Amino acid sequence: MATSSFEKDIVIVGGGIIGCTSAYFLSRHPSFDPIKHRITLLEASQIAGGASGKAGGLLGLWAYPNCIVPLSFRLHSELAAEHGGEDRWGYRRIHCGSLEAQGRALQRLTGEVKQDQRSNAISLQKKDNLGAPKPKSDDLPEDLDWVSPEVSPDYSEMGTPENTAQVHPYQFTTAMAQLAEERGVKTVLGSVSSMDTSGKAVKSVTYNDKKTSQSHTIPATDVVITAGPWTQRVFPPAPISAMRAHSVTIKSSEPISAYALFTSISLPPDFGKTDTFVKSKRPSGKVVSPEIYARPGNEAYACGEGDKLVPLPKTTEDVVTDDSRCQDIIDYVSSISDELRDGEVTARQACYLPLGGPLIGQTGVKGMLMAAGHTCWGIQNGPASGKLISELVFDGKAKSANIASLDPRKEM
Ligand SMILES: Cc1cc2nc3c(=O)[nH]c(=O)nc-3n(C[C@H](O)[C@H](O)[C@H](O)COP(=O)(O)OP(=O)(O)OC[C@H]3O[C@@H](n4cnc5c(N)ncnc54)[C@H](O)[C@@H]3O)c2cc1C
Repeated sequence: MATSSFEKDIVIVGGGIIGCTSAYFLSRHPSFDPIKHRITLLEASQIAGGASGKAGGLLGLWAYPNCIVPLSFRLHSELAAEHGGEDRWGYRRIHCGSLEAQGRALQRLTGEVKQDQRSNAISLQKKDNLGAPKPKSDDLPEDLDWVSPEVSPDYSEMGTPENTAQVHPYQFTTAMAQLAEERGVKTVLGSVSSMDTSGKAVKSVTYNDKKTSQSHTIPATDVVITAGPWTQRVFPPAPISAMRAHSVTIKSSEPISAYALFTSISLPPDFGKTDTFVKSKRPSGKVVSPEIYARPGNEAYACGEGDKLVPLPKTTEDVVTDDSRCQDIIDYVSSISDELRDGEVTARQACYLPLGGPLIGQTGVKGMLMAAGHTCWGIQNGPASGKLISELVFDGKAKSANIASLDPRKEM
């Protein structure tokens, strides 16, 4: 039976994409009544300050898990149409392919690179669980003109504008938070320190206010844990872990056509053989695989592989960026593209990917739900997660998709 006839104090813990889409869909659920129900979005540092503001933003009908991907892909398109997402958060359809290339030696110097920190690269696994790519074609698509023909590019199509799109994750996530606020959601900057779940039901949430450091306790009938890689710190039984990943953005003075590339670049043995490189023992003759996504406004986003060298810090503001890892990404990208080599680097950043899910649903504690562990497809799967959370809270069950396989209780 639906429980929406009772007053509700709904508290969302974490203002990444999953918390913000949850706030958005809760505030638009037909049973939400701002007179009877209160929704508080508690964010420790800054809305979209973690992976949700630093991700690539690729969306694909061919992503995983397939029980929520079609719903989420459709919701992205509907949200963009309803709220002007094309202008507001860079929503657009895009081509996607895998690209093998022979990287060219670099002409310019880069900073000191620590060899020992470059080992232990871990794939972000975006291409896992996908079907075999289409047969290889030797030719680059005609409009993919920001990859140099000199690098012997070999392109295989993975997605077309029919089934592939993109958003700017920071712009999308902050827009979701703002649209939720317009419908009555209260955003509070504060870090959740404890939850009263005595009697196996949620009663209240205690947080430390970011500005004043004072502790406050607010009543809760429903708590939604959307703390991404920090989920286990808020709710210890949750099997969610974290992995750091670096990324950069580059602004080109030339147009960059709408392609997302999963690359495999063979670096020449003399890659970057300058005085600096020799001194820093840069490895050469290896294969590297940055993902490069063109964005509107002549910008490209590129990310490298993950690492587990630095444990998850306390907050998004304490994340350490290793400049040499960012420089590696820039060098790899530069080795195949003149437009990006000559562009201006506009961001060097790191964030933590949440691993172990996605897990969406009840936790076994009455009134406590979680939606976390979205791995490398959290931007793609954010809207479906938020919609399903709104149904679980107001209808007592998920209606838009069968998410039995994502039930957190099976994993705890
Ligand atoms: C390099 C990289 C590229 C990616 N590219 C893509 C892509 O192209 N497409 C795609 O679909 N996905 C992509 N992803 C994955 C995607 O970014 C994540 O799955 C998604 O952002 C996770 O969102 P989240 O809301 O669960 O977590 P987060 O964004 O980490 O948000 C969690 C929030 O919880 C807050 N929090 C933590 N503890 C507390 C507390 N105690 N109290 C209050 N708040 C708290 C944090 O401050 C944070 O803001 C990428 C990820 C990485 C790392």
